[in-house]
Parts: sequence; C-alpha cells; structure tokens
Amino acid sequence: MSARAGIVVTGTEVLTGRIADRNGPWLADRLLELGVELAHITICGDRPRDIEAQLRFLAGEGVDLIITSGGLGPTADDLTVDTVARFCGRDVVLDAALEARIAEIIKPLMARFTGPGAPDFATVRAANRKQALIPAGSTVLDPVGTAPGVVVPGAPTVVVLPGPPRELQPMWHKAIGTPEVQQAIAGRTRYEQQTVRMFGLPESGLADTLRHAQQVIADFVRLEITTCLRGGELEIVTRYEPDAAAAYGQLLAVLRERHARAIFSEDGSRIDDLVAGLLAGRWIATAESCTAGLLAGRLADPPGASDYLAGGVVSYSNDAKADLLGVDPALIAEHGAVSEPVAEAMAAGALRRFAADTAVAITGIAGPGGGTPDKPVGTVCFSVALGDGTLLTRTTRLPGDRADVRERSTTVAMHLLRRALSTG
Ligand code: ATP
Ligand code: MG
Repeated sequence: MSARAGIVVTGTEVLTGRIADRNGPWLADRLLELGVELAHITICGDRPRDIEAQLRFLAGEGVDLIITSGGLGPTADDLTVDTVARFCGRDVVLDAALEARIAEIIKPLMARFTGPGAPDFATVRAANRKQALIPAGSTVLDPVGTAPGVVVPGAPTVVVLPGPPRELQPMWHKAIGTPEVQQAIAGRTRYEQQTVRMFGLPESGLADTLRHAQQVIADFVRLEITTCLRGGELEIVTRYEPDAAAAYGQLLAVLRERHARAIFSEDGSRIDDLVAGLLAGRWIATAESCTAGLLAGRLADPPGASDYLAGGVVSYSNDAKADLLGVDPALIAEHGAVSEPVAEAMAAGALRRFAADTAVAITGIAGPGGGTPDKPVGTVCFSVALGDGTLLTRTTRLPGDRADVRERSTTVAMHLLRRALSTG
C-alpha cells in the first residue's frame, strides 16, 4: 500500500474564487514526484468548524499525511494552528525561542511603517506572540515570511503551512526533510515521471495510438498515462516504477513512429522555452491584429527576452496596417484584412520596420461578430518571415470564444515560429 495524502486549502478568498488556488496544484505536483498518492484537495473558508470538518473527513479516509495551507497570520481570523491542535488532541504552548525569532523578523518590517497610524511595536509583538503558540510536541518550520509552520506527528501527520505561495513552497521543502513527515510517507512508491508534448494532433488520434500501444507493449499496464489537451497542445504524462522503464521506452518509440511531426518536446520543456532558445542570436518583431500584443507579451515573458525581442506593432485597424507596416490598402481591399497575403505583408512590414531577421504576423476574426460564411469566427492567418526569405504562412480555424481564439492564436504562432526556426 502506497502512502496517501490530503490537502486542505483554507482561505475565504480562495473559496470564493477571488484568488485562484496555487498551493493545492503545486503541492499535488510535489506529492506526485515523491510517489505519495494524493487522495483529495479540499477548499474551505477561514472558519474553524469548516477546517475541522475537512481534517475529520481526510482522517476518516485513512490518509497518512494532511497538508494545510493558509491561516497562519497574526490576526484573529487566522485560526489554523489552533484548529489543528484541537483536532490532534494537543494543547497549544508558547515557544519562547520562536517568539524571539519572530520578533527579530518583524523589527525591520516595523521600521518601514512610521508616522501617524503606524502600529506600535508592542501591539505588533503581542499579535505575533500568537504565531509562536504551537501544538505541544510539534516541530516548528522556521518562517520564510513572519508565520512559522508546524509538523504535528500522529496518524495522520499534519503539516501546517502558510498561505502565500512564496512562503509555502520553501517551507514545504523543509517539512519533507523532517523525520515526522518521512515516517508518515515511508510507505510511498518511487516513481519516474516523463512528459511528452505534442501540437496539432487531436486527442482522438492519441487515443487510437494508445490503444495500439496497449496491444504491442507487454508491460503496458505498468505505465500510468495521463493525457491532457490544453489550448491545442497535448500533454502526455507517464508515471512508472523504475523497473518499468523499458515499457516507457517502447511507448516513446510508438509515439515517435506515429506522431514524429506532432511531438515538440520529449523532456517536458514548453514551447515558450523552446522558442526562446531558438531565438538566441536572432532579432524578432511582431505584427498583430486580433491578438493586439498578446504574442509580443508572451515573447517577453522569459527573462533575457531583450536579447532577441525587438518590438511589435499592434495593427488592429486597416489604417494601422497600412500606416505602420506599409501594407498596401489595395491588398486589403482585394483579399480582406484576414487573409494570407495581408498576413505576409504584415510580416514583411515588421521585418522592415524593426530591421529584424524574424517576424510573425497574426490577423484573424476573434468574434463574436465579424464572421462570414467563408471566413467564420476563429479564422486566423499567420505568417512567419525570416531574413533569408523563408516564409511560413498558414490559415487555421480555432475553436472557442473570443478569449480562446486570441490566446490560442499566440500558441499557434509559437509553434509556427519553432517550425520555421528549427528547419530554417
Ligand atoms: P498571512 O500572514 O499573510 O496572513 P496566512 O498563512 O494567514 O498568511 P492567508 O491569510 O490564508 O495566509 O493568505 C494570505 C495571502 O496569501 C492571501 O491573501 C493570498 O494572496 C495568498 N494565498 C493564500 N492562500 C493561497 C492559495 N491557496 N493560492 C494562492 N495564493 C494564496
Ligand atoms: Mg492570514
């Protein structure tokens, strides 16, 4: 039997969706890497009754480890430690050394608040004394912010972590190093995990390939395969115990044999990073109509983008296409703004305008209005132009609403770029 865990995410702002939960998915990945089976992620508000109900539920499910996120702050509505202590049948006790450490941490923070309305040091220190109250017999995880976490041993063992992801993440790494957590997850199975990414293959095509793989690979059942279609990209995550590595090798061979063109990553790396790598030593400009800068924004995401990103033109209107990119208005009149000739002229204009050696143009109909029978909503034309004259032009019909079409257009453009740059 493998070790099992549950995650309790607390916080009314997460429950109501005002902020998206980043801790549950992050911890889920870490547990997966560790080979601990994740049974549930539950989300509740800041009410002790609700937190306790979730702890009870998970304990009732027989998990070995519960991880909580949030509610460790100094204010009265931060009640997770109290609630966990009660649930584990432990008193809370003051850890004097911890209180002193927290005082040291808040001193410089306090210095930043001056003038009228600033809290006085004694008040703040009293509030932070609360953070030094920990369940008896638990192990303290030193704060990354001001809130310490705790590991409460038992069955299940409970790891209590703060809500802000930048605090939770390093503290989780400390938590798994503690003997209490190691003991709780002692029954885990070690897994390898590999990720293959494809583009331009429908999920049904992959399903067919997996049926075939099932027939030709003897140890197929030992591969735990999860596929996920996201924005036109297919992600295939395979988990297996180390002695089933040969079966994974066979699966990879089948995927390569059938989908060589669609596979763009066998080591999990993402299209944005691959494109960033291919752009090294190049100078790229964008010309965007329906995406209005989304692609330029995406190209600027990786640190160091200034080495290759020259700039972009948001040429939403026909006048902007003519004035800023030199697209001939007659070309637009003849073919329409959403057409391959206009996309090519936009790319050529971006090359000139920025003295670039790489350019991408996007022009399409994001909807909901503006579609016609031969150019329905979702019709998007792309052109990648390189300084050596290489030209890659495509028209696609993208599904979804306005936001989907605009977002997916940037993904298609990234893949065209990769294709142009890896062959050119
Ligand atoms: P603090 O000392 O900041 O109050 P805390 O441990 O009490 O820490 P919360 O009050 O639950 O944590 O959350 C503080 C902030 O951390 C939230 O307003 C939010 O910005 C961020 N945060 C909390 N939980 C999550 C989560 N699950 N996903 C993403 N961000 C979160
Ligand atoms: Mg808080």
